[in-house]
This record gives sequence, structure tokens and C-alpha cells, in this order.
Amino acid sequence: MPNLTKHPEAYIEQGKTIGIIGGGQLGQMMAFSAKAAGMKVIILDPTPQCPAAQAADDQIVAPYADVAAIKELARRADVLTYEFENVDLQALKDVADQVAIPQGTNLLYTTKNRIREKTFLRDAGLQTAPFAAVKNRADLNAAVEKLGYPCVLKTCEGGYDGHGQIVLKSAQDLDDPITEEVLQYGDDILEGWVPFKMECSVMVARNTDGDITVFPVSENIHAHEILHLSIVPARMPVEWQQRAQQMAEKIAEAIDLKGILGVEMFVGADGQLYVNELAPRPHNSGHYTIEACNFSQFAVHNRAICNWPLPKIKLMSPVVMVNVLGQHVAGTRRLIHEYPQWHFHDYGKAESRHNRKMGHVTILTDDIEATLKQIKDSHVWDDE
Ligand code: AMP
Repeated sequence: MPNLTKHPEAYIEQGKTIGIIGGGQLGQMMAFSAKAAGMKVIILDPTPQCPAAQAADDQIVAPYADVAAIKELARRADVLTYEFENVDLQALKDVADQVAIPQGTNLLYTTKNRIREKTFLRDAGLQTAPFAAVKNRADLNAAVEKLGYPCVLKTCEGGYDGHGQIVLKSAQDLDDPITEEVLQYGDDILEGWVPFKMECSVMVARNTDGDITVFPVSENIHAHEILHLSIVPARMPVEWQQRAQQMAEKIAEAIDLKGILGVEMFVGADGQLYVNELAPRPHNSGHYTIEACNFSQFAVHNRAICNWPLPKIKLMSPVVMVNVLGQHVAGTRRLIHEYPQWHFHDYGKAESRHNRKMGHVTILTDDIEATLKQIKDSHVWDDE
């Protein structure tokens, strides 16, 4: 092969196999995209016929941390990736000499733990909420003294969609049973409250050659701690958006990113940007890219881990993405008949539950406010 990249040994060509740890919707959309590019895909997930397996060539049915199963995946794949952050790091290290794992384990190690993540961000010169490590009640009292009310106590690991955290508004909340529960966890973070005007996120990707590409900024609206809407372009000045993108690029360089990374931020009223969280994988707030951009976040992630050159991303149309949780499935299916222009995604999960992410709808639009009104007037998301 001609030497087309700085790291030809890292180049994974069409026809090779991507192994994905985790078989949910992120793995499914990675698999759809990989298949379109002519790759083969094997999923490791304990649930037979999980969403990603429905789009893949094969599945190894086993728990994520099953060392023998990870070894089998490594043996059968040319490159390994994952769709969530709770991957067994030791298991990945154990197979690192058998299969390419371009994302490595450093990024996962850093982003798995909120203290390590925020410390990395601070050291890289990025603004975050003020924070302190909390291991027990004495630490909590000292941290509250320093950061003041309101503040947020979060477990360092394992929290998602608002689980494992509590907002402390006054000294009374120190005695809340949830505070006690979070403290019992033993490895927590207290964050000062950021009075944000908006939440946003940026997807950024980098390959082994060091090419970087960045997606448009998504404005994110949550309901009950779960992403409800993503709106692109975010309704903030272009200069703020550019700064958010530059911050994402800076993080990608600082962490020697390979693959895609979601950067969640708070936007202050004065345009100050605070990095809240990093997701070392495709992200729910990037689903809009499938229809609204020239390349989707999944296509770009696959290109990055295969060390293909990365495209410059263009937004082809303003867009609104709305999540479909268990309680929205029936209503959304009725909307299929009303809105032929809307893209209805369903992840094919066997069981629908309240607040479980079952699908999403992507709406390309010339009028974001009118589209938001259509969503509201449909009454499908009235619980939000
Ligand atoms: P997280 O699990 O860190 O993504 O937090 C869940 C949600 O809680 C965020 O999307 C925010 O809406 C809110 N939140 C978390 N941390 C803070 C903070 N330090 N200041 C203000 N709001 C926060």
C-alpha cells in the first residue's frame, strides 16, 4: 500500500472487522454506518438480538466484563471500540497486543471518574464548575463551606441521567436520605452551582494521524435529567459557538484523542463556557448529525478509529432532534402519519419502559421555533 498516512499500520481498510463492546443504540448506529462503508461488525453484549446486533454481522452473547468473551472479540476483530464508558479497562489492556484499540485506555480512565475528568480539564486550562473531592461527611461539610449553596453532590463514577446526584440548596439538604446514599458511595465530588443560561455540547473527533474535525454546537434541553431536545444551530451568538468548538479541539489535543468525544458544556448569560462532562464515544446530542450533516458522528467515529482522513463537517440544514422515551412510543408512531418530512428512528429494543430511550425523531427545518411548536402541539411529550 502506498504510504498515504503517517501511521499506515493503524489504517483499517474496507472489509475489515470492527468489534464493539456494548450493544445499545449507539453501537447500533455505529454498526449501520460501518456496514454502509463496507466494514464487518461484531457486537459483544449479554442480550441476544440487542439493538446493535440487529445491525451487525455477528454477536458474542456474554457480559461486558467476561474476559474470555473480550478475548474472542479481540481475536475476531481488526479494531476494537466501545459504545459506553463502563468498559473493563484491565480486560482491554489484556487484549491490547492482539487487536488495534486506537482509543486506548487513558481517555476512558480519565472520563470514568468525575474528579479525574475535572482535574484534567482544569490542568488543560479549561473552565469547569468549582469542585472538591468528597469521601465522607467531614469532607462534605468542608466543601460546602468553601463552595456555598446551591451546590451539587455527585458520585464520581457510575452516575447517568441524573442518577447518583443531589442538588443541595441549603443545610437542610445535608440530611436528605439521597445525600446519605451518595455519601455511602464513598468517592464523590461536590460542584459549585453554575447559573447557566443554556446547556450545549460539541462532538469532536481525531484520528491516529492527528487530523481533527469538529461538529456544530448543539443546544440541549433536558427534562427530568434526560436529554429531551437538541437544537442546531444552538441559539447563541456565532462567536460563542466558535469558542465552544475551539475548546473541544483543545480537549481533543490535550487528551490525545483517537475516535470521537462528546463535550458537554454550560453556557453562562455572559457567554462564559464551563465544561461539565466528557463522553468518550458518540453521544445522544449528536444524533442530529445523521440527517443534518454531510457526515454523521458515527461515520466520523468509525473513520477516526480506522485512521481514515477526517472530513470537514458541514451542517446541511438547521435541525431539531427529539428523544423518544418509553412513554412517547405510541404517540410518536401516530405522528408518522402526520409528518412525512420527519425522520423516525426506533432502536428495536425488546422491552419499552418509562424513561428508557427507545428512539428519536430528527426534523430538518427552516424554522426552528415553528418546529418546536409542532413538537409541543403534538402533546406526545407533554410529560416533559
Ligand atoms: P451531569 O450528570 O453532570 O450531566 O448533571 C446532570 C444535570 O444536572 C446537568 O445536565 C445540569 O442540568 C445539572 N447540573 C449538574 N451539575 C451542575 C452544576 N455544577 N451547576 C448547575 N447545574 C448542574
